Amino acid sequence: MTSCETAFITLQARISTAATQQPGTSVRLLAVSKLQPASAVRACSALGQRAFGENYVQEALAKQRDLSDLNLEWHLIGPLQSNKCRDVAEHFDWLQSLDRLKLIEPLAHFRPAQRAPLNVLIQVNIDDEASKSGCKPDLVPTLAAAICAQSRLRLRGLMAIPAPITALHTSGSAFRHMRSLYDLLKASYPQVDTLSMGMSDDLELAIAAGSTMVRVGSALFGARLPR
Ligand SMILES: *Cc1c(COP(=O)(O)O)cnc(C)c1O
Repeated sequence: MTSCETAFITLQARISTAATQQPGTSVRLLAVSKLQPASAVRACSALGQRAFGENYVQEALAKQRDLSDLNLEWHLIGPLQSNKCRDVAEHFDWLQSLDRLKLIEPLAHFRPAQRAPLNVLIQVNIDDEASKSGCKPDLVPTLAAAICAQSRLRLRGLMAIPAPITALHTSGSAFRHMRSLYDLLKASYPQVDTLSMGMSDDLELAIAAGSTMVRVGSALFGARLPR
């Protein structure tokens, strides 16, 4: 077995062990391939993984070109600058980091007619950290309504990156707060089906709180190249 294969199997076991404690929820794996070479994505896709997450648009576009023979699903999970809306609308399947109103119109405008609507998650800055993107929790209803007004966008749910595990966060309170925002959103928008939270170090805690998609980089690919 290659190291990628061992890591993939170990990770899948971690996810399914955590998920069996949450009957009725299925948990998807997003493989976070930022700062990993295209060859690593290709090796992981050969094991059956289809959804990959990238943080930097230019890096992602280059990788997508190298891997255009594969049928992959690409998610942007890094902060989005308005001048990149066109690239994202044209080249990604999901945007997980929508956090302000002014991105919505350009994304809808540039989404090509021949592609399915762009799947969108609203990123919430759940621990109110100055260094992090994401909207304040009370902006979620406004953003959700604006996304749903666009036929070229499809609201799928919420994403968060809670503060790293500390005494404050080991209790999982940020994840539980996200879960309650998610339940509220789902009550208004039945198509909402995705709560993206949990990474290499905290995916069990996130799944226990109701995550439906974990985003895992280092536990799958090992250390990242420096940027
Ligand atoms: C890098 C990154 C991840 C993956 O983090 P790991 O700790 O390597 O699993 C997940 N989500 C986002 C938004 C990231 O930027």
